[in-house]
This record gives sequence, structure tokens and C-alpha cells, in this order.
Amino acid sequence: MFFSFVFFLLLIFTNLSANEINLFTTRHYESDINLYKVFENTTGIKVNIVSGKSKPLEKRILEEGDSCKGDLFFLADAGRLYSAQEKGIFEKINSKKLEKIIPNQFRSSYWFGVTKRARIIYYNPEETSQEEIKDLNYEDLANKEFKNSVAIRQSNNVYNQSLVAYMIENKGIEYTEKWLKKFVNNFSRQPQGNDRAQILSVAAKESKFAIANTYYYALMLSGKKGKEQQLAAKKVKPFFPNQNSTGTHMNISGIGVLKHSPNKNNAIKFIEFLLSPKAQEHIVNNSYEYPIIDGVKTSKLIQEMGLNFKQDNSTKVSSYGKWQKVAFELMQKAGWN
Ligand code: FE
Repeated sequence: MFFSFVFFLLLIFTNLSANEINLFTTRHYESDINLYKVFENTTGIKVNIVSGKSKPLEKRILEEGDSCKGDLFFLADAGRLYSAQEKGIFEKINSKKLEKIIPNQFRSSYWFGVTKRARIIYYNPEETSQEEIKDLNYEDLANKEFKNSVAIRQSNNVYNQSLVAYMIENKGIEYTEKWLKKFVNNFSRQPQGNDRAQILSVAAKESKFAIANTYYYALMLSGKKGKEQQLAAKKVKPFFPNQNSTGTHMNISGIGVLKHSPNKNNAIKFIEFLLSPKAQEHIVNNSYEYPIIDGVKTSKLIQEMGLNFKQDNSTKVSSYGKWQKVAFELMQKAGWN
């Protein structure tokens, strides 16, 4: 009698634990939460969210070790995913299904890209003609003619570290070190503020160029950040560099299953859900990122920025993680605060 009762409890417990996932995420979109509700309603699997910044979450997962109840870790930069992978946080996932839908350059055997973002250049058409920047590459931003031109955030920003890591991967350390010295010399002001602050600087004609991720510009245009930012964004145009070479630098938001995940099957189901056309459409229409799978209709704002640009389709984004530390050292050495 007693044993069958224990067995009964066990059954309930297994069922309960099988019906949830614990998601650690550094993404901060209200719309993501609405999407997780769709997952809950269609699968009956509850999504418990633990949100925070990547370093503290990573630390927590490491400290809790095999008692960590987390199933998934969702991060917003390929370098961060690589860092978590290097620390042994993720479980290797062999999924033919996922490998088939996510291009090789946007995944490793430990994590999968969910959305793409481009880190591009912005200019003010009242100050700079389209003709002048027709064939512009990231590399050219170090040219003498662009002295006091570039607004960009600080070197501790992970998106900037990934951009420099991409340069190292494609051009080598020696080239990048020299390039950085000249590039930093071309800054229009002390690096400060977030990505949107750089675009504001170009709108105010304080800087000739800004570097910022695409979705921040679309976010400003959407009006969700207020009328003032919307007006500023309208004064500024996006420019996709390196069209005649590697293609524009791309980064990802991506997710991996945690090593001690108690709900691995559900965790994989969740990743598959995020990569479904419906979920992708929901994400990109709310966050203004690019879908990672083909055939997804993006928001009008993203379309208006131009979808026909050449994306870098060869650099493996895991190389950003590989070079990020070196990149940061070189950036500091070049005087990038
Ligand atoms: Fe961001």
C-alpha cells in the first residue's frame, strides 16, 4: 500500500516536472513573454522565466552546478553564447531538425541562433550624400578623411567586441590592431551611451556616422521610444557596409540547453517552437530583428530599411567568442574607453 502510494506520488512528480521548463534569459522583450504563453497554450508546458544580465546568470548557473533547475539559457550575442559554452554550461544537442533549419554559421553543437541582427552604419543625408559612402566598408571608417566622424559606444559593449572580433577573424590580429588605432582616432566624441544615443548624435549633426544594431533604429522609428527619438531616427539613414567584400557583420540571439537541465525534451521542443515560422514572425515583428529561418515576413520598418543587402554569410559567429578577449585588449590598447 505504502509503496504504491510512493509510486503514485512519483508519477505525479515526474508528470509535474515534465510539464515545465525553466528559462534563463537575458532578453528583455515584453513580446517574448507573450510568445511563451502561446507555447504554454499549445503544448501544456509551463515556461518559468528567470531574467537578468548574462554575467550574473552565467555565474548563478555555474555556482548551482548539478542542482541548477535551469533548462535553457537564452543570450543576445554570439560571444556570450561561446563564453557559456567554454565554461561547460551547455549540453551538446544533436538535432538533425535544428541543423537543417539554422545555417551552419549561426550555431554550434551547443547552441542555436534564434534571431539575427546587423551592426551597421547610420548617416545624415543632409550632411552626407549616398554617393560619398557608396562602397563604404567598416575598414574605411579608419581613413583620414573621416577624422572626428564616428559615434560609437564604449569598448566594454559586447556588440562592439563582436564587431572587432569579426575583423580579427577576417583580417588578422596585426591588421586589426593597426586599424583600431586609426579608427579610434576618428571618433567624434568620447564613447558614451547606448546604441540609440549614437543615432541621436548623427541626427543632431554632432557626428557624421553612428554604429548601432539595426533593431535599435527600427525601435526608434516605431515611436515606442517616444516622439523625439522617432523624429531623430527619421533624419537618419541606415547604411549596410561591406557589400563588395564579406557582407555586413551579423550577430545573433541564441539559445542552448543547460547541462543539468531536468526537462531536456521539453527544452528541445521549446527551441523547435522558437524556430517555427509563426514564432519567428512574432519575434521579428516585435523586436525588429531578422528571422534566422527563410520565408518569414518581417515588419514594415525592417523592410523599409532594405532587405536586399548582402549579409556576411561565411564568418562563423562562434569566432566572435573566440576573439572577444583579444578584441577587448586591442580596443583598450588603442585608447577606446
Ligand atoms: Fe541589444
